[in-house]
Amino acid sequence: MTEQNLSFIDEVRRRRTFAIISHPDAGKTTLTEKFLLYGGAIRSAGSVKSRRSQKHAVSDWMEIEKQRGISVTSSVLQFEYNNFCINILDTPGHQDFSEDTYRTLMAADSAVMVIDCSKGVEEQTKKLFQVCKMRGIPIFTFINKMDREGKDPFDLLEDIENVLGIRSCPVNWPIGSGKDFKGVFNRHKNQIELFNDGNHGQSIAKSITGNISDEKFNTLLGDVLHKQLQNDIELLDVAGDSFDLNQILNGELTPVFFGSALTNFGVEPFLKSFLDITTPPKPRSSNLGDIDPESTNFSGFIFKIQANMNKSHRDRIAFLRICSGKFEKGMTVNHVQRNKKIKLAQPQQFIAQDRVIVDSAYPGDIIGIHDPGIFNIGDTLSQNQSKLQYSGIPQFAPEHFARISTTNSLKRKQFLKGITQLAEEGAIQVYKRPNIGMEELIIGVVGVLQFEVLEYRLKQEYGVYITMNRLPYRYIRWIEETTFNRDNFSITMDTILVEDKDKNPVLLFQNEWSVRQIIERNEGLILRETSI
Ligand code: GDP
Repeated sequence: MTEQNLSFIDEVRRRRTFAIISHPDAGKTTLTEKFLLYGGAIRSAGSVKSRRSQKHAVSDWMEIEKQRGISVTSSVLQFEYNNFCINILDTPGHQDFSEDTYRTLMAADSAVMVIDCSKGVEEQTKKLFQVCKMRGIPIFTFINKMDREGKDPFDLLEDIENVLGIRSCPVNWPIGSGKDFKGVFNRHKNQIELFNDGNHGQSIAKSITGNISDEKFNTLLGDVLHKQLQNDIELLDVAGDSFDLNQILNGELTPVFFGSALTNFGVEPFLKSFLDITTPPKPRSSNLGDIDPESTNFSGFIFKIQANMNKSHRDRIAFLRICSGKFEKGMTVNHVQRNKKIKLAQPQQFIAQDRVIVDSAYPGDIIGIHDPGIFNIGDTLSQNQSKLQYSGIPQFAPEHFARISTTNSLKRKQFLKGITQLAEEGAIQVYKRPNIGMEELIIGVVGVLQFEVLEYRLKQEYGVYITMNRLPYRYIRWIEETTFNRDNFSITMDTILVEDKDKNPVLLFQNEWSVRQIIERNEGLILRETSI
């Protein structure tokens, strides 16, 4: 990284932190790699994938990702481009892991949604988009694979608007498609940018830019493409939504870009516009009001915990999003939820593809802190304000449940340790029947694939084999303690009463009819859909 003598404020203002979401295979990894290529963080494309497979070799619980071709957890990368310092948060594409995506989005200031131009909006895009929408952050759309024959660009815009329910506004418009994909037209600058081969995407694509009316483009594009572009632009100007920065920043309008991550065409124009439009970290809400990122008091929150990223180290990392102030290695901070002071000794950052020890970091950055088992998702760390708490990270209500126990009673200790750690990571939610010990646990997950990951990780990381019986419950409700009459509680046959990790009473139902029945039978009973 380049050493610059920038002030704290300059450092904050050059930060951009975004999450990247897509249906599997739309090209998220390829696009991320090309960002790194343009940022100079890697010298030639192709290295991310091979690094990824190397990582699989050491971090073998990720084997499951490889086997199924899906990304189970999200990771973080930092790189520099044009004096911006950019943090990318990768998210799992599969909907069964949308809980992880949600937590990751809590740490992002905007999102980039990658769509395959031949497929349009796909199933997982929808779900992930909804999660972004809940956060109200700006959502940028990158329509990828324009080097392949795909849907008509106008149809793709309609698809986004109809399926996702968000208005769209193209910033870059494609010139040709498939083999004839030549470049993009920037509607803001009224400028054409045509690309040259770029060594099949291995290196930065060279380009020719100029005004749309410039004669040379008639020759370069040919009469047909040039005319078609002019017609498209006229149509967009008349029929499309106009660019409205406020609406974009509020997540009500998505700016759309076209390109090909594979050939690099359109990648850099996207990156440049993205950096122009997005803002540095904004104030975050907390129990003490909005916290200004430019305030010099260091603060941040834990949004993700991941154990055993590297099996040989058996480490557990808590991911901290910095919200204000400068972070310095070795600093002592308040761990608000535990009411304790802790020293942040070996903080790590994820620069391009590597983990490095970090000396300093700024609002917008994500650092990994070694976690000896003291952190929970949502915890706040703060240098001076021991009472500061960032708004909590809500849990998704689980929709699938299973009863699990270990097949080997000698391994009970390991079993409970594994379950506890995975629950702390937020990978599963644990419930138990009141008055029954920890012999039998009920696990709740949002997506069924999480069960597979649970079984796999318990085996690989803790040497524990489990038996798992799926349960028919589909709905969960937390009982408002003050309305709960334990001695005179009427329950239906197909419903069970359990406790969550904090011993709160919780009901598991098979259908919505039973939910209504319980409310009718128990006067005054209040049920909540979330734990907080
Ligand atoms: P992810 O699952 O969203 O991370 O998708 P990947 O980046 O792994 O890409 C999935 C497949 O699509 C890979 O075979 C890529 O080489 C291919 N791909 C990605 N971007 C493009 C593109 O712009 N054009 C074409 N033709 N293929 C692409």
